Amino acid sequence: LDPTSNQFSHEDMDIERALRPLSFEDFAGQDQVLENLRVFVQAANLRGEALDHTLFHGPPGLGKTTLANILANELDVNIKITSGPVLDKPGDLAGLLTNLDERDVLFIDEIHRLSPIVEEYLYSAMEDYRIDIMIETGPNARSVQIDLSPFTLVGATTRSGLLTAPMRARFGISSRLQYYTTELLTTIVQRSSQILRVPISMEAAIEIAGRSRGTPRIANALLRRVRDFAQIKGNGNIDIEIAKFSLKALNVDAHGLDEMDNKILATIIDKFKGGPVGITTLATAVSESAETIEEVYEPFLIQQGFIMRTPRGREVTEEAYRHLGRTKGPTQGG
Ligand code: ADP
Repeated sequence: LDPTSNQFSHEDMDIERALRPLSFEDFAGQDQVLENLRVFVQAANLRGEALDHTLFHGPPGLGKTTLANILANELDVNIKITSGPVLDKPGDLAGLLTNLDERDVLFIDEIHRLSPIVEEYLYSAMEDYRIDIMIETGPNARSVQIDLSPFTLVGATTRSGLLTAPMRARFGISSRLQYYTTELLTTIVQRSSQILRVPISMEAAIEIAGRSRGTPRIANALLRRVRDFAQIKGNGNIDIEIAKFSLKALNVDAHGLDEMDNKILATIIDKFKGGPVGITTLATAVSESAETIEEVYEPFLIQQGFIMRTPRGREVTEEAYRHLGRTKGPTQGG
């Protein structure tokens, strides 16, 4: 259940795919983002043009990949999927780009991790639908310009701050995805249980939703594990008892904070007197990379009001003390 992990078993991958919404209609939440996208897609369809290049940013598991696929469906075009770290040579990118049909979507996940050479190469493709490719080698080497079909680049990133300014400027549409409310996650859990054909009570759906860190991917992952418990330890139905029993066995606490979330809070309290503590110092203390803390853990802890970002570093709130059942020691003036 590690939210940073994209490592799923084959079964999980298949289920992920089955649970993925395919149209705007199926997609829950992110109302403002969706409302705008509907307009842009409709306009592009009406004019028969490629949709403007689109960037989705926000923490993992909130629906960036899902939305890229939905855009392709709603535009009625094909989608090619790749990711920043995979595209390490301009040649790889050229191969993808020259195979796109008019208005197709090219989805690049983790676009902040493109190599500078590949990124540079992407600029002219995005701006002029044109690339230069080198043909032959040695003394005969020369570059040839190739025209591309107008296409839509959809980029996803968990770290929009790491995108270069020229890259960011080339996206006509840029949307930030937010954590989901328990209410929305409840509808997602209900929809997923329908697809998985496992009966679930309202109460159990709310319980799972409330412990999912505001994240649909986690809600679906928890649902799958609870389904296992229901089948093996129960009668196959997910009711509140089996949901609570399973979530306890899975070590998910009442707020949906996982072990690392709690470790971060406990560390700031125990080792740094509640903070402020710098991100690199904190990272070392909890043995996690500063990058992962900033992109995966911290946004949720801030959103839930457990951590504050101050100019001098990260500080826990009263809420964090309460959550961990600690009492706050004497503070120095404030
Ligand atoms: P990201 O690309 O942001 O990491 P994904 O698009 O891969 O996230 O979403 C993870 C999973 O969560 C998907 O398989 C999908 O089933 C589910 N999901 C995401 N957003 C929604 C949503 N709004 N409604 C229903 N399911 C969703």
